[in-house]
Amino acid sequence: MNEFAARLLEWFDRCGRHDLPWQRDRRPYAVWVSEIMLQQTQVATVIPYFERFVARFPDVEALAAAALDDVLALWAGLGYYARARNLHRAARIVAERHGGELPETLDALIALPGIGRSTAGAILAQAKGMRHPILDGNVKRVLARYHAIDGWPGERAVEARLWALADAHTPSERIADYTQAIMDLGATLCTRRRPACTVCPVAETCGACRRGIQAQVPAPRPKRARPERRRAMLVVRDPVGRVLLERRPERGIWGGLYSLPELDDDDSASEWCARRLGATPVGEIALPELSHAFTHFDLTIAPRLVTLASDSRIVMESESLVWYNAARSNLGIAAPIRALLDTLPEPGEETAWHEPSIA
Ligand code: SF4
Repeated sequence: MNEFAARLLEWFDRCGRHDLPWQRDRRPYAVWVSEIMLQQTQVATVIPYFERFVARFPDVEALAAAALDDVLALWAGLGYYARARNLHRAARIVAERHGGELPETLDALIALPGIGRSTAGAILAQAKGMRHPILDGNVKRVLARYHAIDGWPGERAVEARLWALADAHTPSERIADYTQAIMDLGATLCTRRRPACTVCPVAETCGACRRGIQAQVPAPRPKRARPERRRAMLVVRDPVGRVLLERRPERGIWGGLYSLPELDDDDSASEWCARRLGATPVGEIALPELSHAFTHFDLTIAPRLVTLASDSRIVMESESLVWYNAARSNLGIAAPIRALLDTLPEPGEETAWHEPSIA
Protein backbone atom coordinates (compact mmCIF):
# COMPACT_ATOMS: atom_id res chain seq x y z
CA MET A 1 0.00 0.00 0.00
CA ASN A 2 1.34 3.49 -0.82
CA GLU A 3 2.48 5.62 2.09
CA PHE A 4 -0.24 8.24 1.70
CA ALA A 5 -3.04 5.64 1.87
CA ALA A 6 -1.38 3.78 4.75
CA ARG A 7 -1.09 6.94 6.86
CA LEU A 8 -4.61 7.98 6.03
CA LEU A 9 -6.04 4.60 7.01
CA GLU A 10 -4.06 4.52 10.24
CA TRP A 11 -5.54 7.95 11.08
CA PHE A 12 -9.01 6.79 10.02
CA ASP A 13 -8.79 3.78 12.35
CA ARG A 14 -7.93 6.08 15.26
CA CYS A 15 -10.02 9.16 14.56
CA GLY A 16 -12.33 8.54 11.61
CA ARG A 17 -16.12 8.17 11.56
CA HIS A 18 -17.14 4.52 11.63
CA ASP A 19 -20.75 4.63 12.62
CA LEU A 20 -22.43 6.75 9.97
CA PRO A 21 -25.82 5.36 8.89
CA TRP A 22 -24.56 4.62 5.38
CA GLN A 23 -21.57 2.77 6.85
CA ARG A 24 -23.95 0.48 8.76
CA ASP A 25 -26.11 -0.02 5.67
CA ARG A 26 -23.69 -0.68 2.82
CA ARG A 27 -26.34 -1.55 0.24
CA PRO A 28 -25.67 0.26 -3.06
CA TYR A 29 -29.04 1.99 -2.75
CA ALA A 30 -28.28 3.43 0.69
CA VAL A 31 -24.76 4.49 -0.32
CA TRP A 32 -26.16 6.12 -3.44
CA VAL A 33 -28.75 8.13 -1.49
CA SER A 34 -26.08 9.21 1.01
CA GLU A 35 -23.64 10.26 -1.72
CA ILE A 36 -26.27 12.39 -3.43
CA MET A 37 -27.27 14.04 -0.16
CA LEU A 38 -23.63 14.66 0.74
CA GLN A 39 -23.05 16.64 -2.45
CA GLN A 40 -23.00 20.26 -1.22
CA THR A 41 -24.23 19.31 2.28
CA GLN A 42 -22.32 18.45 5.45
CA VAL A 43 -22.49 15.05 7.16
CA ALA A 44 -24.20 16.27 10.34
CA THR A 45 -27.01 17.88 8.34
CA VAL A 46 -27.45 14.87 6.08
CA ILE A 47 -27.82 12.18 8.79
CA PRO A 48 -31.45 12.85 9.88
CA TYR A 49 -32.56 13.44 6.29
CA PHE A 50 -30.90 10.21 5.20
CA GLU A 51 -32.56 8.20 7.98
CA ARG A 52 -36.03 9.57 7.23
CA PHE A 53 -35.57 9.07 3.50
CA VAL A 54 -34.41 5.47 3.69
CA ALA A 55 -37.12 4.62 6.25
CA ARG A 56 -39.79 5.97 3.91
CA PHE A 57 -38.25 4.71 0.66
CA PRO A 58 -36.26 1.63 1.71
CA ASP A 59 -35.18 0.55 -1.77
CA VAL A 60 -35.08 1.54 -5.43
CA GLU A 61 -38.53 0.10 -6.13
CA ALA A 62 -40.13 2.11 -3.34
CA LEU A 63 -38.45 5.31 -4.52
CA ALA A 64 -39.39 4.66 -8.15
CA ALA A 65 -43.03 4.09 -7.19
CA ALA A 66 -43.23 7.28 -5.10
CA ALA A 67 -44.75 10.54 -6.34
CA LEU A 68 -42.15 13.23 -6.96
CA ASP A 69 -43.98 15.53 -4.53
CA ASP A 70 -43.48 13.01 -1.70
CA VAL A 71 -39.78 12.76 -2.51
CA LEU A 72 -39.41 16.55 -2.58
CA ALA A 73 -41.31 16.85 0.71
CA LEU A 74 -38.73 14.62 2.43
CA TRP A 75 -35.96 16.67 0.81
CA ALA A 76 -37.40 19.99 1.98
CA GLY A 77 -34.69 21.91 3.86
CA LEU A 78 -31.71 20.13 2.27
CA GLY A 79 -31.69 22.47 -0.73
CA TYR A 80 -30.42 21.85 -4.26
CA TYR A 81 -33.66 20.13 -5.22
CA ALA A 82 -32.35 19.05 -8.62
CA ARG A 83 -30.58 16.32 -6.62
CA ALA A 84 -33.92 14.93 -5.44
CA ARG A 85 -35.49 15.14 -8.88
CA ASN A 86 -32.51 13.36 -10.46
CA LEU A 87 -32.53 10.71 -7.72
CA HIS A 88 -36.19 10.02 -8.38
CA ARG A 89 -35.72 9.93 -12.15
CA ALA A 90 -32.72 7.64 -11.82
CA ALA A 91 -34.67 5.28 -9.50
CA ARG A 92 -37.34 4.89 -12.17
CA ILE A 93 -34.69 4.13 -14.79
CA VAL A 94 -33.01 1.58 -12.49
CA ALA A 95 -36.39 -0.04 -11.77
CA GLU A 96 -37.30 -0.23 -15.45
CA ARG A 97 -33.99 -1.12 -17.04
CA HIS A 98 -31.91 -2.78 -14.33
CA GLY A 99 -34.51 -4.78 -12.42
CA GLY A 100 -34.30 -2.48 -9.39
CA GLU A 101 -30.56 -3.15 -8.80
CA LEU A 102 -28.03 -0.35 -9.23
CA PRO A 103 -25.67 -1.23 -12.08
CA GLU A 104 -22.14 -2.22 -11.06
CA THR A 105 -20.06 -0.55 -13.73
CA LEU A 106 -18.79 3.01 -13.69
CA ASP A 107 -20.17 3.80 -17.14
CA ALA A 108 -23.66 2.48 -16.41
CA LEU A 109 -23.81 4.47 -13.17
CA ILE A 110 -22.59 7.66 -14.84
CA ALA A 111 -25.34 7.26 -17.44
CA LEU A 112 -27.94 7.80 -14.68
CA PRO A 113 -29.19 11.33 -13.90
CA GLY A 114 -27.26 13.09 -11.13
CA ILE A 115 -24.32 10.66 -10.97
CA GLY A 116 -20.89 11.89 -12.07
CA ARG A 117 -17.61 10.03 -12.16
CA SER A 118 -16.70 10.74 -8.53
CA THR A 119 -20.12 9.78 -7.16
CA ALA A 120 -20.13 6.60 -9.24
CA GLY A 121 -16.67 5.73 -7.92
CA ALA A 122 -17.74 6.38 -4.33
CA ILE A 123 -20.80 4.14 -4.69
CA LEU A 124 -18.84 1.23 -6.15
CA ALA A 125 -15.98 1.63 -3.69
CA GLN A 126 -18.16 1.81 -0.60
CA ALA A 127 -20.93 -0.58 -1.52
CA LYS A 128 -18.94 -3.14 -3.49
CA GLY A 129 -15.34 -2.65 -2.39
CA MET A 130 -14.39 -2.06 -6.01
CA ARG A 131 -11.24 -0.05 -6.60
CA HIS A 132 -12.28 3.30 -8.04
CA PRO A 133 -10.79 6.70 -7.18
CA ILE A 134 -13.02 9.59 -6.16
CA LEU A 135 -12.48 13.30 -6.67
CA ASP A 136 -15.12 15.41 -4.98
CA GLY A 137 -14.45 18.98 -3.85
CA ASN A 138 -12.84 17.91 -0.57
CA VAL A 139 -10.55 15.39 -2.24
CA LYS A 140 -9.51 17.92 -4.88
CA ARG A 141 -8.44 20.27 -2.12
CA VAL A 142 -6.49 17.58 -0.22
CA LEU A 143 -4.62 16.36 -3.30
CA ALA A 144 -3.97 19.84 -4.69
CA ARG A 145 -2.39 20.79 -1.37
CA TYR A 146 -0.57 17.53 -0.81
CA HIS A 147 1.09 17.84 -4.22
CA ALA A 148 1.26 21.67 -4.14
CA ILE A 149 -0.46 21.86 -7.51
CA ASP A 150 -0.74 25.19 -9.29
CA GLY A 151 -3.95 26.22 -11.01
CA TRP A 152 -7.66 26.10 -10.45
CA PRO A 153 -8.99 22.49 -10.15
CA GLY A 154 -11.85 23.36 -12.50
CA GLU A 155 -9.35 23.69 -15.37
CA ARG A 156 -9.33 20.61 -17.54
CA ALA A 157 -5.57 19.98 -17.31
CA VAL A 158 -5.47 20.48 -13.52
CA GLU A 159 -8.47 18.22 -13.03
CA ALA A 160 -6.94 15.51 -15.22
CA ARG A 161 -3.80 15.64 -13.13
CA LEU A 162 -5.80 15.39 -9.91
CA TRP A 163 -7.69 12.36 -11.25
CA ALA A 164 -4.36 10.68 -12.06
CA LEU A 165 -3.09 11.40 -8.54
CA ALA A 166 -6.36 10.21 -6.98
CA ASP A 167 -5.98 6.97 -8.89
CA ALA A 168 -2.34 6.57 -7.90
CA HIS A 169 -3.14 7.00 -4.18
CA THR A 170 -6.15 4.69 -4.13
CA PRO A 171 -5.11 1.36 -2.58
CA SER A 172 -6.42 -2.01 -3.64
CA GLU A 173 -7.35 -3.04 -0.09
CA ARG A 174 -9.78 -1.48 2.37
CA ILE A 175 -11.17 0.61 -0.45
CA ALA A 176 -14.40 1.58 1.31
CA ASP A 177 -12.50 2.82 4.38
CA TYR A 178 -9.97 4.68 2.26
CA THR A 179 -12.78 6.42 0.36
CA GLN A 180 -14.42 7.53 3.59
CA ALA A 181 -11.01 8.48 5.06
CA ILE A 182 -9.97 10.84 2.27
CA MET A 183 -13.40 12.51 2.28
CA ASP A 184 -13.17 12.88 6.07
CA LEU A 185 -9.67 14.36 5.87
CA GLY A 186 -10.91 17.06 3.52
CA ALA A 187 -14.04 17.72 5.56
CA THR A 188 -12.47 17.79 9.04
CA LEU A 189 -8.72 18.64 8.84
CA CYS A 190 -7.79 19.91 5.40
CA THR A 191 -10.58 22.44 5.42
CA ARG A 192 -10.85 25.35 3.04
CA ARG A 193 -9.82 27.87 5.69
CA ARG A 194 -7.26 27.17 8.42
CA PRO A 195 -6.34 23.55 7.69
CA ALA A 196 -5.27 21.66 10.84
CA CYS A 197 -1.85 20.67 9.53
CA THR A 198 -0.38 20.09 13.01
CA VAL A 199 -2.59 17.04 13.49
CA CYS A 200 -2.78 15.92 9.87
CA PRO A 201 -1.56 12.35 9.25
CA VAL A 202 0.14 13.28 5.94
CA ALA A 203 1.67 16.60 7.01
CA GLU A 204 5.26 15.34 6.87
CA THR A 205 5.07 14.72 3.14
CA CYS A 206 2.54 17.44 2.23
CA GLY A 207 3.94 19.87 -0.36
CA ALA A 208 1.74 22.83 0.57
CA CYS A 209 2.47 22.39 4.28
CA ARG A 210 6.22 22.20 3.72
CA ARG A 211 6.17 25.37 1.65
CA GLY A 212 3.63 27.15 3.84
CA ILE A 213 1.30 27.80 0.92
CA GLN A 214 -1.86 26.06 2.20
CA ALA A 215 -3.82 29.30 1.96
CA GLN A 216 -2.99 29.74 -1.73
CA VAL A 217 -3.76 26.16 -2.80
CA PRO A 218 -5.97 25.25 -4.54
CA ALA A 219 -6.05 28.40 -6.66
CA PRO A 220 -9.49 30.03 -6.81
CA ARG A 221 -11.55 30.15 -9.97
CA PRO A 222 -10.08 32.88 -12.19
CA LYS A 223 -12.29 35.93 -12.41
CA ARG A 224 -13.66 36.30 -15.88
CA ALA A 225 -13.85 39.74 -17.41
CA ARG A 226 -17.46 40.81 -17.42
CA PRO A 227 -18.88 40.95 -20.92
CA GLU A 228 -19.70 44.42 -22.17
CA ARG A 229 -22.56 45.30 -24.44
CA ARG A 230 -23.28 48.54 -26.17
CA ARG A 231 -26.65 49.74 -27.39
CA ALA A 232 -27.59 52.85 -29.28
CA MET A 233 -30.95 54.16 -28.01
CA LEU A 234 -33.17 56.81 -29.44
CA VAL A 235 -34.62 59.66 -27.46
CA VAL A 236 -37.30 60.74 -29.92
CA ARG A 237 -38.99 63.99 -28.87
CA ASP A 238 -42.15 65.22 -30.52
CA PRO A 239 -42.94 68.91 -31.19
CA VAL A 240 -44.61 69.32 -27.75
CA GLY A 241 -41.70 67.81 -25.81
CA ARG A 242 -42.98 64.29 -25.15
CA VAL A 243 -40.53 61.39 -25.42
CA LEU A 244 -41.23 58.15 -27.19
CA LEU A 245 -40.94 55.00 -25.07
CA GLU A 246 -41.25 51.37 -26.07
CA ARG A 247 -42.43 48.49 -23.91
CA ARG A 248 -39.78 45.78 -23.72
CA PRO A 249 -40.58 42.12 -24.33
CA GLU A 250 -41.53 40.12 -21.21
CA ARG A 251 -38.36 38.05 -21.44
CA GLY A 252 -34.90 39.57 -21.26
CA ILE A 253 -33.56 42.65 -19.55
CA TRP A 254 -36.11 45.07 -18.11
CA GLY A 255 -38.82 42.63 -19.20
CA GLY A 256 -42.21 44.36 -19.52
CA LEU A 257 -40.82 47.79 -18.51
CA TYR A 258 -40.74 50.86 -20.72
CA SER A 259 -37.43 51.93 -22.18
CA LEU A 260 -36.08 53.89 -25.13
CA PRO A 261 -36.30 52.34 -28.58
CA GLU A 262 -33.07 50.61 -29.58
CA LEU A 263 -31.28 51.29 -32.80
CA ASP A 264 -29.68 48.42 -34.74
CA ASP A 265 -26.11 48.82 -35.94
CA ASP A 266 -27.14 49.20 -39.55
CA ASP A 267 -30.03 51.57 -38.82
CA SER A 268 -29.97 55.37 -38.64
CA ALA A 269 -32.19 57.59 -36.52
CA SER A 270 -33.90 59.13 -39.54
CA GLU A 271 -34.58 55.73 -41.12
CA TRP A 272 -35.97 54.46 -37.83
CA CYS A 273 -38.32 57.46 -37.49
CA ALA A 274 -39.48 57.15 -41.08
CA ARG A 275 -40.10 53.42 -40.73
CA ARG A 276 -41.73 53.29 -37.30
CA LEU A 277 -43.43 56.72 -37.12
CA GLY A 278 -43.70 57.95 -40.69
CA ALA A 279 -42.01 61.15 -39.47
CA THR A 280 -38.81 63.03 -40.25
CA PRO A 281 -36.39 64.33 -37.58
CA VAL A 282 -35.11 67.87 -37.89
CA GLY A 283 -31.99 67.27 -35.85
CA GLU A 284 -30.01 64.66 -33.98
CA ILE A 285 -27.35 64.98 -31.30
CA ALA A 286 -25.36 62.47 -29.27
CA LEU A 287 -26.09 62.61 -25.54
CA PRO A 288 -23.44 61.57 -22.98
CA GLU A 289 -23.16 57.81 -22.68
CA LEU A 290 -24.23 56.07 -19.52
CA SER A 291 -23.32 52.69 -18.03
CA HIS A 292 -25.41 50.19 -16.17
CA ALA A 293 -24.21 46.97 -14.50
CA PHE A 294 -26.39 43.89 -14.83
CA THR A 295 -25.60 40.67 -12.99
CA HIS A 296 -23.81 39.09 -15.93
CA PHE A 297 -22.70 42.01 -18.09
CA ASP A 298 -22.15 45.74 -18.29
CA LEU A 299 -24.33 47.76 -20.60
CA THR A 300 -23.23 51.03 -22.17
CA ILE A 301 -26.10 53.09 -23.51
CA ALA A 302 -25.31 55.54 -26.30
CA PRO A 303 -28.40 57.79 -26.50
CA ARG A 304 -29.17 59.91 -29.53
CA LEU A 305 -31.65 62.75 -29.10
CA VAL A 306 -33.87 63.25 -32.10
CA THR A 307 -36.39 66.07 -32.50
CA LEU A 308 -39.30 65.68 -34.88
CA ALA A 309 -40.44 68.48 -37.15
CA SER A 310 -43.35 70.55 -35.84
CA ASP A 311 -45.46 69.64 -38.84
CA SER A 312 -44.84 65.88 -38.42
CA ARG A 313 -47.85 63.67 -39.00
CA ILE A 314 -46.95 60.83 -36.69
CA VAL A 315 -48.38 57.37 -37.29
CA MET A 316 -47.93 55.02 -34.34
CA GLU A 317 -48.42 51.51 -35.64
CA SER A 318 -47.05 49.57 -32.72
CA GLU A 319 -49.04 49.20 -29.49
CA SER A 320 -45.79 48.92 -27.56
CA LEU A 321 -44.90 52.56 -28.35
CA VAL A 322 -46.19 55.38 -26.12
CA TRP A 323 -45.52 59.09 -25.79
CA TYR A 324 -44.17 59.86 -22.34
CA ASN A 325 -44.91 63.06 -20.52
CA ALA A 326 -42.89 63.28 -17.31
CA ALA A 327 -45.51 65.39 -15.53
CA ARG A 328 -48.42 63.10 -16.28
CA SER A 329 -47.15 59.57 -16.38
CA ASN A 330 -46.67 56.72 -13.97
CA LEU A 331 -45.33 54.18 -16.44
CA GLY A 332 -42.98 51.46 -15.21
CA ILE A 333 -39.69 52.69 -16.64
CA ALA A 334 -36.27 51.03 -16.29
CA ALA A 335 -34.34 53.01 -13.66
CA PRO A 336 -31.34 54.09 -15.80
CA ILE A 337 -33.73 55.25 -18.50
CA ARG A 338 -35.74 57.29 -16.00
CA ALA A 339 -32.50 58.88 -14.79
CA LEU A 340 -31.63 59.77 -18.37
CA LEU A 341 -35.07 61.27 -19.02
CA ASP A 342 -34.77 63.38 -15.85
CA THR A 343 -31.63 65.04 -17.16
CA LEU A 344 -32.71 65.74 -20.73
CA PRO A 345 -32.11 69.32 -21.89
CA GLU A 346 -35.17 71.45 -22.33
CA PRO A 347 -36.47 71.66 -25.90
CA GLY A 348 -34.47 74.36 -27.70
CA GLU A 349 -31.46 73.96 -25.37
CA GLU A 350 -30.09 70.84 -27.02
CA THR A 351 -27.03 72.61 -28.36
CA ALA A 352 -25.70 72.67 -24.80
CA TRP A 353 -24.32 69.26 -25.79
CA HIS A 354 -21.48 68.93 -28.20
CA GLU A 355 -21.10 66.59 -31.18
CA PRO A 356 -24.16 67.67 -33.08
CA SER A 357 -24.66 65.64 -36.22
CA ILE A 358 -27.62 66.28 -38.43
CA ALA A 359 -29.31 63.21 -39.74
S1 SF4 B 1 -0.80 18.94 5.94
FE1 SF4 B 1 -2.33 20.54 5.97
S2 SF4 B 1 -2.51 21.18 3.84
FE2 SF4 B 1 -1.46 19.21 3.84
S3 SF4 B 1 -3.05 17.71 3.55
FE3 SF4 B 1 -2.75 17.92 5.75
S4 SF4 B 1 -4.22 19.48 6.42
FE4 SF4 B 1 -4.06 19.60 4.19
